[in-house]
Amino acid sequence: MSYPHLFSPLVLPHWRLKNRVIMGSMHTNLEEAENGFFKLAQFYKERVEGGVGLIVTGGIAPNAAGALAPKQALMASRVDAQNHKVVTQAVHQAGGLICMQILHAGRYGYHPKIVAPSAIQAPISPFLPEALTCEAIEQQIADYVKAAELAQSAGYDGVEVMGSEGYLINQFLVARTNQRTDEWGGSFSNRCRFAIEIVRRIRKRVGAQFILIYRLSMLDLVEDGSSLEEVIELAKQIEAAGATLLNTGIGWHEARVPTIAAMVPRATFTQVTKQVKQAVSIPVITSNRINMPDTAEQVLAEGNADLISMARPFLADSDWIKKAKHHQTHLINTCIACNQACLDQVFAGQLASCLVNPRAAHETEINFYPSKTPKKLAVVGGGAAGMAFAVYAAERGHKITLFEAQAELGGQLNLAKKIPGKAEFYEMLRYFKNKLQVLRVQLKLNYKAQAQDLTEFDEVIIATGVIPRQIDLPGGEYPKVVSYTELLSGQVEPAQSIAIIGAGGIGFDVAEYVCRYQNAQVAPSGTDEVKSGAEIEEFTAQWGIDLTHQQRAGLKPAKVEKMAKTLYLLQRKTDKPGAGLAKTTGWIHKAELKQQGVKMLSGVEYQAVSDQGLHIVQEKQESILAVEQVIVCAGQESLTELVDQIQNKPVHIIGGAFKAAQLDAKTAIKQAALLARRI
Ligand code: NAP
Ligand code: SF4
Repeated sequence: MSYPHLFSPLVLPHWRLKNRVIMGSMHTNLEEAENGFFKLAQFYKERVEGGVGLIVTGGIAPNAAGALAPKQALMASRVDAQNHKVVTQAVHQAGGLICMQILHAGRYGYHPKIVAPSAIQAPISPFLPEALTCEAIEQQIADYVKAAELAQSAGYDGVEVMGSEGYLINQFLVARTNQRTDEWGGSFSNRCRFAIEIVRRIRKRVGAQFILIYRLSMLDLVEDGSSLEEVIELAKQIEAAGATLLNTGIGWHEARVPTIAAMVPRATFTQVTKQVKQAVSIPVITSNRINMPDTAEQVLAEGNADLISMARPFLADSDWIKKAKHHQTHLINTCIACNQACLDQVFAGQLASCLVNPRAAHETEINFYPSKTPKKLAVVGGGAAGMAFAVYAAERGHKITLFEAQAELGGQLNLAKKIPGKAEFYEMLRYFKNKLQVLRVQLKLNYKAQAQDLTEFDEVIIATGVIPRQIDLPGGEYPKVVSYTELLSGQVEPAQSIAIIGAGGIGFDVAEYVCRYQNAQVAPSGTDEVKSGAEIEEFTAQWGIDLTHQQRAGLKPAKVEKMAKTLYLLQRKTDKPGAGLAKTTGWIHKAELKQQGVKMLSGVEYQAVSDQGLHIVQEKQESILAVEQVIVCAGQESLTELVDQIQNKPVHIIGGAFKAAQLDAKTAIKQAALLARRI
């Protein structure tokens, strides 16, 4: 398929962008790592070689008070500028443009020296900010300007001023966080002054050619956020102050509304960008949950924006643009919006990477060079680990045969794709299947490999995965006791009253599946399913989002269709169910189950299953949960029966077969990649 809008150049006053996709800002933590700028240079260079015309870096603070964390990279001195030069040079040598994002965290900073327009603590921070004096405000503006000037001296082609997501500039814009009574607060024009002065003074300092992107919060999604009129008025004033491009920000970080997670239907927020685009004459960039060329093309064709910004999809596949251009969309390694290896790792202080591409942000360390001694390798098991290994090893020139006992490749991924909001797993399966075909991996489906099938191979990779853990409980043999695999594979239907044993990732997934069972029958192709208009309507109603922005901040009362079932989610641990879920998405899963009235119990001891239901003890009280079905989600055990039968050759065990506990696709794919790199 060709994408005429996506590949039409955009001419800016002094620059020409070769296509309509920019790589949006994503902090990788390489910015603070040892040799980080050298690694970052390689990371960005590969994206430019893959077709990206313009990159926006991760957020860099203009001063220490504005840092997100104590050791965050700053652009505040000549030494800082010098460090960045390796990045700008690499991008320019590859033929790309790069803008540095200036991000002042304001009250979102995770350290005690934070500042804000007013001394009001953010609900997501343990620190109380100090209210800025008028003199200190002038200093903050001067630091923004200095950061832009230093960025220019470091070779950047422009800067992006981060004015959204609830950071300092946003904090000035609304009464929720700005209760000043001087010229920086009160009236709307006073609250805008900080943003406008920053843009105006940067433009004056850096000259007309320097690209100046302003990231505008187009939908705050927090109470007392900006109205549509205010957003549009600000957009006009930012344009007048000298911005080259307007980028879209959706939702403050403290908003209790998902904006980028997998359950957000693709391109949900692009119509919000359109409202602003109609009011200004500079090009406008849209973003959030655009991960495939068809979606991007449609957004552009509908006139919602002039450019698309994507960050995570370029972690997943550095060649995204090249593949879209050369009719290889079917080979794009799609970002599944899981956040597991990118944002969750960054927030945990680790380097960003990508679940579907463990090379991301590790380009100088993980490489798949051609093998000098190609081998004949058998891979047993076609789940995430087996498929990933086969792809990486085949790319190195090894000759691979992949055995899969089921008729279809995918293993646990075939269950994950059935969970509401996880249809992007279809894309992951599509990618692996197409890559295996292109790389001519020999597939033996519906074939349970035995030891004698493996004699002709040099080495064997066991990726046979896991089986659900059965629990030893009186009455466990009742037909009402089922495993999550029986439910998700469609062998059994959810009953009207259910208890789920085990509140790990899969327990939560199964609870969501049950809650939305009517809607859980996803289409065979993820692409059609994930971008339907009906889905956007259902999503925005559930989370109280007003995309027309008639209501201030784009919030409206949420409308949830509650399931007509009784559902318990149980665990033995005494901490809160869901405490171990991922930082950026766990709160969404918990909120969804709460919306549906799921009863979550901790500190539960399971005693028996009987005709009456599930017998439990909680806080020394015995009770019977009168349920018709008990779904066991108590983790998994490794399947390794084949290992001991293989003689006289190297055997490698990866994925769930290697370690069942706490194993997921992220760990499995990375382990597969690292083995394929060295075999
Ligand atoms: P899990 O996270 O280990 O959870 C299994 C739960 O079952 C445990 O929390 C445990 O809780 C309970 N359990 C264990 N043994 C039991 C026993 N003998 N009797 C009763 N309860 C028992 O495993 P999972 O939920 O199956 O998930 C597997 C992997 O996939 C994990 O790594 C998970 O993170 C990953 N995953 C991730 C996501 C995601 O969205 N990121 C989604 C799904 C799965 P108690 O001991 O407290 O009862
Ligand atoms: Fe996308 Fe998940 Fe990779 Fe992040 S880790 S870039 S969300 S696929």
